[in-house]
Amino acid sequence: PTPELLRADVIVVGGGAAGMMAALHASSRRVILLADRQVGRSGSTFLAQGGVAAALGPGDSPERHAEDTVRAADGLADPAVVRMVTREGPRRIHEILELGARFDRNGSGGLSLGREGAHSVRRIVHARGDATGAELARTLAEAVRRRETIRILEGFGAEAVLELDGTVLGLAATAPDGSPLLLAAPAVVLATGGLGHLFRRTTNPPEARGTGLALAARAGAELADLEMVQFHPTALADGSDPAPLLTEALRGEGAVLVDEEGRRVMAGVHPAGDLAPRDVVARTLWRLQSEGHRIFLDATAIGPALKRRFPTVSDLCRRRGLDPAVEPIPVAPAAHYHMGGIVVDSHGRSTVRGLWAVGEVACTGLHGANRLASNSLLEALVFGARAGDETASLLAAVPPEGEVRAARKKLAAAGVATGAGGRNRVAQELRDLLWESAGVERDAAGLRRGLERLDRLADHDPGSASVEVARWILRSALERRSSRGAHLRTDADPADDGLYRVVIRGGRVRRERPAWLRAAVAGRANVGV
Ligand SMILES: Cc1cc2nc3c(=O)[nH]c(=O)nc-3n(C[C@H](O)[C@H](O)[C@H](O)COP(=O)(O)OP(=O)(O)OC[C@H]3O[C@@H](n4cnc5c(N)ncnc54)[C@H](O)[C@@H]3O)c2cc1C
Repeated sequence: PTPELLRADVIVVGGGAAGMMAALHASSRRVILLADRQVGRSGSTFLAQGGVAAALGPGDSPERHAEDTVRAADGLADPAVVRMVTREGPRRIHEILELGARFDRNGSGGLSLGREGAHSVRRIVHARGDATGAELARTLAEAVRRRETIRILEGFGAEAVLELDGTVLGLAATAPDGSPLLLAAPAVVLATGGLGHLFRRTTNPPEARGTGLALAARAGAELADLEMVQFHPTALADGSDPAPLLTEALRGEGAVLVDEEGRRVMAGVHPAGDLAPRDVVARTLWRLQSEGHRIFLDATAIGPALKRRFPTVSDLCRRRGLDPAVEPIPVAPAAHYHMGGIVVDSHGRSTVRGLWAVGEVACTGLHGANRLASNSLLEALVFGARAGDETASLLAAVPPEGEVRAARKKLAAAGVATGAGGRNRVAQELRDLLWESAGVERDAAGLRRGLERLDRLADHDPGSASVEVARWILRSALERRSSRGAHLRTDADPADDGLYRVVIRGGRVRRERPAWLRAAVAGRANVGV
C-alpha cells in the first residue's frame, strides 16, 4: 500500500529536552514533533537528576564556566562553541523559568545553585532536589502541547531520513500500528538522544540506542568521536536495567565508596579521594570488580537528611528494599553519556543540507573527550533553541510529494534496511559484546574480538542500526590509539598525541584535525617555543 504522507516546515525527531526546545523555537512555522515514546516522559531527559549548569550565581561568569568546561574536555573542546554555550546558558534558564519551571529556590527567593564535580563554583540549577529532568521535561512538554502549530506524533519511530542528491526531503516513519508513514519537510532535526542502551550496563533508557546516528550517516552525514562514551561510576548494581543512578552529589555530601570488607577503595588513588574525576573513579571500580571485589556506596554518614536532600535516590532505593540512610548500597560503573555524535556547526546544522542534530545525538565540540556534569541538558537547551530558530527562518518550500516518494524508493532500491526505528529491542548479545570489548578499559585485541563477534551477529540481523552503530564505536575506539578523557586504552601508543577527532564519513573511519584543533595545537607549540 502507498504510505500516507504528511507535510510540515520542520520535522523534529525526539521528545527529550533538545527536541522539545527545537520544536518550540521553530513553532512560528508548522512543526511535526515525533517520538517513539511519550513526549516529555521519554529519553534520558526525564531521568536526569542533578541539574542544569549555567553561570547565574555571584562570583560566577560565562568565562569561568567556559574554563571549567574546557579543562574537563581534555584538550578536545572547541573553545568557540564552549564560549557560545556558556554565554547563552543563563538566557535559556530564564526562558524555561518563564515557561513555568519550578526550580528550587534559596532562602532569599533566588535560584538555589548546587555544586558538582569539576565545577569551580555553585552553578547547578535543580528541581525538587534531584528530580530536575522530570521538571524540565514537564515544563517543555506542557509548552509544546499548548502550541497549535506543533503537531505531536507519539509512538512513531523514525526509520530513515529521506534525501535526494544530498538534500533532505523528509522522513520515513512507522506508526504505532506498524504502518509506514512519510513526512515531507525541507528541514529535519534529529534529537534522538544517546546510545547507552547499546551497553550491558547503563543508566540510559531503552530508547537511547543511537538510532539517530545510523539515520544521519545513511543520509550522508559525518559522525565523530563515537568511541567517547562516559561511564558513571555509581549506578545501582541490583540487576535493574537500566541501572538507576546514584548521583555524584551523594559523595559531595559525604558518602564514600567501600568494598565488601568496608575498606575505602578510593583512598590513596587520587588526591580528591571519593570526589576524584568520574573517569578515575569508574576505572578504579572497574578494576576492583574484575578482581572479584564488590563495591558499595556508603551514604550512612548523611543520615536522615538524605531523604530530604535526595528524594529521587531515596525513593528508587526504597522501592528495591534498600535504605541508603542506614546501609551501604551496591554500585558499579555503567555507560552513561555519549560525547560523540553527528558533527554539527554552532546552529546544530549537520554536513547534509536540510539535516540538523541537537542534544546528546550531536557532536558539537562542547564536551570534547569528557562531559562536565550538568552541561548536557544545557547543551540540549542551547542547541535546541538555535536549531529551532534557524529552521524556522528557512524560506524553503515543502518538497513535492513525487520527490519524497522517489527518495523513499531510492532507499528501498539501495537495500537500506529501515529497521532503525522505534520499538526494536537491542539484542542482549550486542550489549554484552560492547560492554566486554568497549567498556571502561579497552585494548586493540579486545576491540578486534568485539568486531568479530559483531560480524557473526550481523549475519542474523542484516541492516540493523544497532549493529551498525556498535561497529563504528569499536572501529573508532581502535582508531584512537591513546587514552584521552573517557576513552581508556590499556595498550596506549605513546607516540599518539590524541589531539584529533575520529571522523566517520561515507563508511570510512579516520583521524582528522578540524581548524579549531589545529589552532589549539599550534598555540601549544608556540607556548613551548
Ligand atoms: C540517569 C541519568 C541522569 C542524568 N543526569 C543529568 C543531569 O543531572 N544533568 C545533565 O545535564 N545531564 C544529565 N544526564 C544526561 C542528559 O539527561 C541527557 O544527555 C539529555 O537529557 C539528552 O537529551 P536529548 O533531548 O538529547 O535526548 P533524550 O532526552 O534521551 O530524548 C530522546 C528522544 O528521542 C526519542 N527517540 C529515540 N530514537 C528514536 C527514533 N528512532 N524514532 C523516534 N523517536 C526516537 C526518544 O523516545 C526520546 O523521546 C543524565 C542522564 C541519565 C541517563
